[in-house]
Amino acid sequence: MSLRLRLTLWYTGLLAVLLLLVGAMVFSRVQASVVGGVDRELQQKGDQIAQLALLTSGTTAITDPLLTIITASFEPDIYVQVRENTRRVIIRSKNLGRAVIDLPEPYYQQAMHSMAGFYNLSIRQPDDLRVYFAPIMVNGHTVGIVQVARNLAPQQAILRELSNNLLVLFTIALALAAGVGYWLTGVALQPIKEATATALAITRTGNLKRRVPIRRQRMDEIGALISTFNEMLDRLEELFEKQRRFTGDISHELRSPLTTILGNLSLLRRAKNLPEEEREDMLNEMHSEAERMHRLISDLLLLSQADSGLAINRAPVELDTLLLESYRLAKRRAGAGLAIHLTHEDQAVVMGDADRLRQVLDNLINNAIRYTPRGGSIELSLHCLGDEAMISVADTGQGITAEDLPHIFDRFYRADKARTRAAGGTGLGLSIVKWIVDAHNGRIEVESTPGEGSVFHIYLPVAAPCTES
Ligand code: ADP
Repeated sequence: MSLRLRLTLWYTGLLAVLLLLVGAMVFSRVQASVVGGVDRELQQKGDQIAQLALLTSGTTAITDPLLTIITASFEPDIYVQVRENTRRVIIRSKNLGRAVIDLPEPYYQQAMHSMAGFYNLSIRQPDDLRVYFAPIMVNGHTVGIVQVARNLAPQQAILRELSNNLLVLFTIALALAAGVGYWLTGVALQPIKEATATALAITRTGNLKRRVPIRRQRMDEIGALISTFNEMLDRLEELFEKQRRFTGDISHELRSPLTTILGNLSLLRRAKNLPEEEREDMLNEMHSEAERMHRLISDLLLLSQADSGLAINRAPVELDTLLLESYRLAKRRAGAGLAIHLTHEDQAVVMGDADRLRQVLDNLINNAIRYTPRGGSIELSLHCLGDEAMISVADTGQGITAEDLPHIFDRFYRADKARTRAAGGTGLGLSIVKWIVDAHNGRIEVESTPGEGSVFHIYLPVAAPCTES
């Protein structure tokens, strides 16, 4: 059963119960008031006659002519009957004709015990006769019983009409509520229907560009659901796009070194009498391409482990020792064309993974070497800033333009594609740096001026208060 139908049935059902309760209350109130009016009238008349009998000290004194005089003031549909205490009917009002108003045993006994009361008699279904009975008492004894009755037909007709009217009214109200409710639920659920249709269309066509249409901005739960759904689609589309680009980039990155290696190999195979020097060059090129592929695959492996939530080891690491080692290595790697200085070194210990932190320094220093032309300089430093340590790698290289700066930490992003690939980079170095720094609860900042140089600052929380030297 659809939600729309279920909701409509629910509140129509609730409304029906409510209307039934209200109807029953109204009906019983009106009934009580109508029957109460009749009772009051019957009691008044009955007591009058009983009083009269009392004044004349006995039932026998109420003669037919006397009763006629009394009842003359009564309405024509009020019946009067007087019985002796033996139950024998001695007087009846004329309008009764040959009929006798019954006095069932329990009420007779009640009257004999000096009590008055009311009861209903069914003489002609469905109309009832309402009867009041009262004892005629002489010296504390019941000598006779007065019965005054009235046909309830007019009152019952009123009540029947009332119940019929209520029934018609409630039926109309229920039908209206069900119709309007069904329509309103349909309107309210329309956006959900559209969201379902969109999700289905995406599943069938694989087109992640589709969105649930927003006809007007809604601030309610449905509005929140739709904007969350659309946001989720944005995110999915972005992820799929990223994934697609990533796969394309990997294939591209792997293809170019392989092409070089395969080309060189076939040349080496064909040209047997190649000069030794040329042969050596080709082997060197193949070696460096194979090394690049190796680096790329290791980087990719690391990033995929990072994506699947690889946790880093945590042990105290002396950043100053680490920086000193990286500095020495960089000096050897850079050769004589670049000046590398360790300008400032405070002492700082962080909780982290020494190998990964070394990788951060190596990647940053390698980039600085790679993108700084001969004659330039690179400065390394470690500063203690209270509860964090700052490592800086500054170079006087080519710098990074303002457009490239926000993207350099993206995977496979290269400011100058041809040049940086030729320089031997994989395009993954800074993504790895960012992941490692984030995993150590640190942050990375970069400032750069194209043509003048770049500075990378790494901030890491220290394990114990560090000391400035
Ligand atoms: P790559 O392996 O290509 O160096 P990275 O992720 O390490 O990849 O760096 C991304 C890009 O950022 C580089 O291609 C380069 O354009 C730019 N870049 C990184 N470091 C520097 C630097 N010190 N000077 C100038 N450009 C840099």
